[in-house]
Amino acid sequence: MAKYKFQPDYSSYTLSSPASELEPTYDVIVIGSGYGGSIAVSRAARAGQKVCLLEKGKEWKIGDFPEKELSAIGELQMTVHDKKRVKGNPTSLYDIIISPDVAILQGSGLGGTSLINANVGLDCETRIFEDEVWPQAFRDDLDQFNRVDRKRVYDMLKPKPFPEFHLESDNLPKLNAMETAAKHIADIEDLETRSIFKRPPLYVNFANTDQNHVGIAQPACINCGNCCGGCNTGAKNSLNMNYLPDAKAHGAKMFTMFEITHVSRNTDKDVWRVHYICHDKNPSKGVGPFVEAKVVILGGGSIGTTNILLQSQTNGIELSSNVGKRFSTNGDTIGFSYNGETKIRPAGQELSTIRKKGKGPGPCITSVIDLRGLPGKELHESYVIQDGTPPSSVDGPYKFLLRWVDSGTDTTPGEDEWREFGRHLSGKGWKNSLAFLSMSHEDATGELRLDEKNGRVWVHYPNVGEGENFKKVKDGMTNATRALKGSFVANPFWGGFAAKFRDTKGIITVHPLGGCVMAENGSNGVVNHAGQVYKGDTDELHPGLYVVDGAVMPRCLGVNPSMTISVVAERCMRLMALQHGWNIDYDSKKMISIYNTSAPS
Ligand SMILES: Cc1cc2nc3c(=O)[nH]c(=O)nc-3n(C[C@H](O)[C@H](O)[C@H](O)COP(=O)(O)OP(=O)(O)OC[C@H]3O[C@@H](n4cnc5c(N)ncnc54)[C@H](O)[C@@H]3O)c2cc1C
Ligand code: SF4
Repeated sequence: MAKYKFQPDYSSYTLSSPASELEPTYDVIVIGSGYGGSIAVSRAARAGQKVCLLEKGKEWKIGDFPEKELSAIGELQMTVHDKKRVKGNPTSLYDIIISPDVAILQGSGLGGTSLINANVGLDCETRIFEDEVWPQAFRDDLDQFNRVDRKRVYDMLKPKPFPEFHLESDNLPKLNAMETAAKHIADIEDLETRSIFKRPPLYVNFANTDQNHVGIAQPACINCGNCCGGCNTGAKNSLNMNYLPDAKAHGAKMFTMFEITHVSRNTDKDVWRVHYICHDKNPSKGVGPFVEAKVVILGGGSIGTTNILLQSQTNGIELSSNVGKRFSTNGDTIGFSYNGETKIRPAGQELSTIRKKGKGPGPCITSVIDLRGLPGKELHESYVIQDGTPPSSVDGPYKFLLRWVDSGTDTTPGEDEWREFGRHLSGKGWKNSLAFLSMSHEDATGELRLDEKNGRVWVHYPNVGEGENFKKVKDGMTNATRALKGSFVANPFWGGFAAKFRDTKGIITVHPLGGCVMAENGSNGVVNHAGQVYKGDTDELHPGLYVVDGAVMPRCLGVNPSMTISVVAERCMRLMALQHGWNIDYDSKKMISIYNTSAPS
């Protein structure tokens, strides 16, 4: 199809350097390359610092992300609480952590979880920042935060709503279905549909672009729906398309397959030591097992960073007793409308299929039923429901779950029973199904603890699934399903077959937050308002040690968190530069470029 012909050739596009080029010392070391880490490395490089980034996962070539079940299984790493063995390779892309009450999915690779996320760039409610869990200095700086830091993120990640009729002469079926669901919910809540039904900003490129703002060619999104498996066209504005190439253009070095175990202090030289395991088969020569720098910035995400700080504490670094505390699931949950009355295109499609036939489901998320900030409702009652398209690599298990394991509860009993039964029998019921993703508010009292058996963190959060927020969201999703005349299937671990089997309301989150939260001092949290790490339970600070990722969030955000994480990280870097006398050159236009475009084979 002519409209898919613009496909940049990324075969020679590499951001990372060989492990053998790792040097013994840097001015700044950044750990992890998610939103926090990528922003840190770009800003430190623009400030002229000799900076390197160390990432546990691999660098992914666009075009190589798994599209089929077997290849996706090969990219799984799984840590199960209280089990010695960690399944899979620590450099694998899909990182799952299973604890008694909470399961977490996150990404690992150069670009962090941005490589496999659903692209939504929504701000959290302004009421979130009125909460006194945020340090006073942070709340006093909200004007700069909302204007200056937020604009910097927007300029780099370029979020935009899904355009009207992108590639098709009509709306995507799932957008129509979500609007129908929103109308029904608006009627129940006595609201206008347009006040709650929105197309959220997405980190996705919707126009063929020879050279984006950091010099990379990007095609328009082709609606394949595989965003959460990894985008194989380059249309997704993941961090390897913006902040990371920007960092490289400004002199940063990036090394993959370096797993940091802990940090320690070299008091003779007054620098930090970053201890690592190199998973590269061709490891660095003559360096290690550590690298040193005056400034170390942790960006390993809520789980990765907390893991490193807990291990550092065990190895003698004086840290707050709050490391690991105030973990939240961001009130995440999933649910499904199965066997509704209209076709939806339920799952992602492989590139070869979509290029031949077109008519994809659209990016993973395209719309939101936004039930935040409603008149008379408290913050903890807020939640959002979004459409979700699972990638092609899981369409088999997804179909199997809905068709054979749990077909849910009919929300319109007595209506059209025979047709519903016919669709279920023939398999068409699955084609008329829509996944819902939701975020809400629990009280962020979970704890990340070190598992002595495998050295990784697990989540201690007994009965989190019993929270009122999850019941409320279930009611909302049931109403949405009723509007589509489908059967409601709850998260299998919360209200489905697996919950009954395990006798626990299990939560699955893709938005782990907290563990090293911001606070006024070390007796309440782990870092100060600027991300600098406290020495023990005091208000003294470790010189040159910072956290800038989702670990610092002191509460649920109640919406997809990457925008807030990014703005907080930009703010931390602005303040870090002031503290160290750096001048971050935000106006520099240095770029690395790939212009080579060609038709797909
Ligand atoms: C399927 C899915 C869909 C999502 N959809 C959205 C969405 O639409 N919108 C949104 O806002 N959010 C979404 N998220 C969540 C969002 O991507 C994360 O909240 C965000 O990426 C967190 O950023 P971060 O900087 O804290 O860390 P991460 O992005 O998680 O990055 C951390 C990086 O650090 C590395 N690392 C960890 N430990 C170490 C170590 N010891 N040594 C070296 N490196 C290490 C990891 O490998 C990883 O690459 C989604 C997540 C998933 C899984
Ligand atoms: S829908 Fe496909 S092309 Fe578009 S961003 Fe997602 S994975 Fe990339």
